[in-house]
Amino acid sequence: MFVKDRNFKIFIHESQIQNRIAELGKQICTDYADKNPLFIVILNGAFIFAADLIRHIDIDSEITFVKYSSYEGMESTGVVDELIGLDADIRERHIIIVEDIVDSGMTMREMLDDLKKYSPASLEVVTLLQKEKSIAIGQKFQYTAFQIGDEFVIGYGLDYDQKGRNFKDIYIVENE
Ligand code: 5GP
Ligand code: MG
Repeated sequence: MFVKDRNFKIFIHESQIQNRIAELGKQICTDYADKNPLFIVILNGAFIFAADLIRHIDIDSEITFVKYSSYEGMESTGVVDELIGLDADIRERHIIIVEDIVDSGMTMREMLDDLKKYSPASLEVVTLLQKEKSIAIGQKFQYTAFQIGDEFVIGYGLDYDQKGRNFKDIYIVENE
């Protein structure tokens, strides 16, 4: 698959993604029964993952969205900007952050530090992908669908300069 100026190949198939999300959904329902969790989805990348995940959630729950930006092209800019802030009161709430991918872990660390200030009852993360870089520095999340290497991936919500979010599978960049 050619996107912008690079070749990408299928890395994780749609069926694998969907099976894993169903498992995570089930697990979350068990863990959060009677807790009315609030899902905070990090836009843009996590929008498809979140849409599929919450359709496996059949317990009382709510969902809201925030937007940060730290990536341009295939490199993190190292600066996390808040573009859309939180519109919900999270004090005493059970919070589950929904993220597409954790790379260096910087975005997630900022987000967690930020949210802790509002004294939620609990604060956990569900991420579709986690890269080795953040695994290596010991970052661990309650729910991770797939652990991957440090290669650049797109599809299933993840973009390469805004392209590829619509792909049903996850693709990996092909080295030339
Ligand atoms: P971090 O702060 O953990 O380094 O980067 C987190 C954000 O960078 C993710 O939420 C995601 O938007 C973006 N990102 C990191 N790695 C990738 C990747 O391989 N592909 C795409 N499309 N975005 C990525
Ligand atoms: Mg993201």
